[in-house]
Amino acid sequence: MAEATEKSLNFIEQIIENDLESGKYNGRVLTRFPPEPNGYLHIGHAKSICLNFGVAQKYGGQTNLRFDDTNPATEDTEYVESIKNDVQWLGFNWANEFYASDYFDQLYEFAKKLIRKGLAYVDDSTSEEMAAMKGTPVEPGINSPYRNRSIEENMALFEQMKNGAFAEGTHVLRAKIDMASTNMLMRDPIIYRIKFAKHHRTGDKWCIYPMYDFAHGQSDSIEGITHSICTLEFVPHRELYDWCIENLEIFPSKQYEFARLNLTYTVMSKRKLLQLVNEGHVSGWDDPRMPTISGLRRRGYTPEAIRDFCERIGVAKRDNLISVGLLEFCIREHLNKTADRVMAVLDPVKVVITNYPEGKSEILTTENNPEDPEGGTRNVPFSREIYIEKEDFLENPPKKYFRLAPGQMVRLKSAYIVRCDEVIKDENGEILELHCSYIENSKSGQDTSGISVKGTIHWVSIANAIEAEVRLYDRLFKVEDPSNEEGDFKEYINNDSLETITAYVEPSLKEATAGTKYQFLRKGYFCLDKESTTNKLVFNRTVGLKDTWAKETGK
Ligand code: ATP
Ligand code: MG
Repeated sequence: MAEATEKSLNFIEQIIENDLESGKYNGRVLTRFPPEPNGYLHIGHAKSICLNFGVAQKYGGQTNLRFDDTNPATEDTEYVESIKNDVQWLGFNWANEFYASDYFDQLYEFAKKLIRKGLAYVDDSTSEEMAAMKGTPVEPGINSPYRNRSIEENMALFEQMKNGAFAEGTHVLRAKIDMASTNMLMRDPIIYRIKFAKHHRTGDKWCIYPMYDFAHGQSDSIEGITHSICTLEFVPHRELYDWCIENLEIFPSKQYEFARLNLTYTVMSKRKLLQLVNEGHVSGWDDPRMPTISGLRRRGYTPEAIRDFCERIGVAKRDNLISVGLLEFCIREHLNKTADRVMAVLDPVKVVITNYPEGKSEILTTENNPEDPEGGTRNVPFSREIYIEKEDFLENPPKKYFRLAPGQMVRLKSAYIVRCDEVIKDENGEILELHCSYIENSKSGQDTSGISVKGTIHWVSIANAIEAEVRLYDRLFKVEDPSNEEGDFKEYINNDSLETITAYVEPSLKEATAGTKYQFLRKGYFCLDKESTTNKLVFNRTVGLKDTWAKETGK
């Protein structure tokens, strides 16, 4: 038996263990996953989901799903539904489904509390004026002329803002902190702004909306979140997060930051993914080339493989770029154990077995998955005319080419040994078909021929094969890190990222159902696409068999 390896704790787990030990939060662990419903989730979000739900599970805690929907302009219920679907599909159940917008009344009260404490004021400056007064990282800012308004005046103005008395951009509510702070975010940050936009949940009830920094920490606190895990770009926000909680005297949630996941040959920001969708570079959010959860699912990825990937990359404190090869390694690992093997010929050449009687056919039995003892068997029809892969025949083979060649023998998987006798060509010298003869007593499992051949190739019986559309995907971008290249990231799109071919698949695939995964023997892993119909099967290639990751790492 393999020795159980003690995995060292990641730094978030270390913090939680310390908190549990010191009795902070009375042994409670409550995390949250807080997506903004302005796009579909991507593999980076999966990392955050696995981390938030994972640590809570590990320490007997729970996780809330909270939609951070404080920006009415970009949000939509379509996104809410897709996010819920994706989190569940990844295998996680949230304790509560919450919306930051549910807290708008409470947040409004919090804002008034700050005003009453003399810690917030209404500013009539234009955004240009405010920017000019903000200072720079090396120079302090200057106080707004409206900074010393009385509490009464601020209360009255804020109420008027709420009641729609002012136009967008004319007034904001700012926290009164320190215009000379070395942290620019502490220089009297805006906490409420006017926006006459319809919100996907609260409709027209509000025309003022809290800024992210005045909603996130407070929402954490309202829910009693113990460990608020976010990505590194929020490090400078932490001081404000703590300031708000302290001055509002509310539940002391704490923020911890880890490195975003970046993946090679793709982009990960929702804004960029939205551009790819809107400008038609892909067929939609769930295009199998997209790094979205829905795209990966349609591509044939499994939740197990994605969770495994997130586990393997660990929790970093510094930004890094992870090879997409690792993600491909993880899906191969999982599908190798679970996917049934079938035969499909992607680039066919016809073979006639001249000594096999015309009109005869037989049913051969083959195992579904050699990796799975309980995988069972299935029937595959064999007959005189078959397709094999073009690349499995060479007229002038090099040494050690163990597939088919003139005069050379090969085993047809789960069937007979055949020998190539003749190559039939058209007037241009193109190969039309191969004439072979089979060794009658060489049937797999009952072979008494005494002939040993080194190569085994896959095939399909022409009379029984089904034509299928197969979509072969390549990387969506030509460079490793398109966001870090000069110019627009879209200049680096790989225009050959989708190749559509017609393949011939064994008849058992007539019963294929959407989402079922297969290994097309010797070719890779494939799954039925949602656009497949009974009249026309459509398969997506999830990943090829070649393990480039193992090569890269020398494993
Ligand atoms: P994007 O920049 O892609 O639009 P976002 O951070 O705006 O992403 P949110 O919906 O706000 O997207 O993210 C929800 C949660 O997922 C946040 O806690 C965020 O930090 C986390 N998250 C987003 N992208 C990544 C990533 N690439 N790696 C890890 N966590 C991420
Ligand atoms: Mg965000």
